[in-house]
Amino acid sequence: MKFGELEIHLVSDGVVRADAGGPFGLVPRPLYALYLQPAPDNTVPMTLTCALIRSEGKTILVDTGLGQKLSPQARALWSLERPGGGLLQSLARLGVAPEDVDLVINTHLHADHCGGNTRRVGDQIVATFPRATYLVQRIEWAEASHPDPRTRSTYLPENFSPLLRQGKLKLLHGDAQVTAHVRCVVTPGHTRAHQAVLLRCGDWRGLWVADMASYAIHMARRAWVTAFDVLPQENIATKARWQEWAVEHDAWLFFEHDPQIAVARLAPEGRRFRLETIPEALELTAGLPTPEPPRE
Ligand SMILES: [Zn+2]
Repeated sequence: MKFGELEIHLVSDGVVRADAGGPFGLVPRPLYALYLQPAPDNTVPMTLTCALIRSEGKTILVDTGLGQKLSPQARALWSLERPGGGLLQSLARLGVAPEDVDLVINTHLHADHCGGNTRRVGDQIVATFPRATYLVQRIEWAEASHPDPRTRSTYLPENFSPLLRQGKLKLLHGDAQVTAHVRCVVTPGHTRAHQAVLLRCGDWRGLWVADMASYAIHMARRAWVTAFDVLPQENIATKARWQEWAVEHDAWLFFEHDPQIAVARLAPEGRRFRLETIPEALELTAGLPTPEPPRE
């Protein structure tokens, strides 16, 4: 889909299932079930949606899903389903080959956002996108390289360390303009240096929200934060700033993990906010996998 000179497509690395306690944290089940009904085993689907952006002649990929290096055990743990194949198949349907990608933006280095950065060839780990420079916040990289007991299972060095050694990782020191239409903005909370991606063309504004709000409802309900957020209070403050921004600019918000609402606007409703669907965005979401409804 084109917004003036900016082109955006949504691509997918599949759908996983997580215990609802992950994305919904302290939110009581009767409340979140109104939004997303968990399966009898209390799992909810989480999509692995990524963005393919074209701007100023550059082909840019935002996040890379779980990738191809998962062990059978890890694949089972994630309940990973790839009805349309993985990310590379999704890109191929757009006519994009791995060597066409100039830049990869990692919003953060949790395994479900950067697993597809690298792939295994024999006993080597190499860049999946051989010509690409990978952009990540320096502090995010530092935290990922020195994980704590809680983050160790998701910060997997194989997804980013080989890229640093091969000179393909560019560490950002705060907000960074990537092209005239694409800007990385630090949005602390989910991780200390999580970044969202601000998109603009003319008067149009979009925000690749990533895990600032894993589901769209997390963006509308300021106090709903996931159990994965390392700085939940800070994420609430971050969301407050971007909620105001989203309303002011009538921005399109893109949600990486939401199986029902991949793109929405935010509108004020009294002192709260509500989500508004964007009919024009159907063109973007049409090719995304729709997860199986929960089994009764
Ligand atoms: Zn995530």
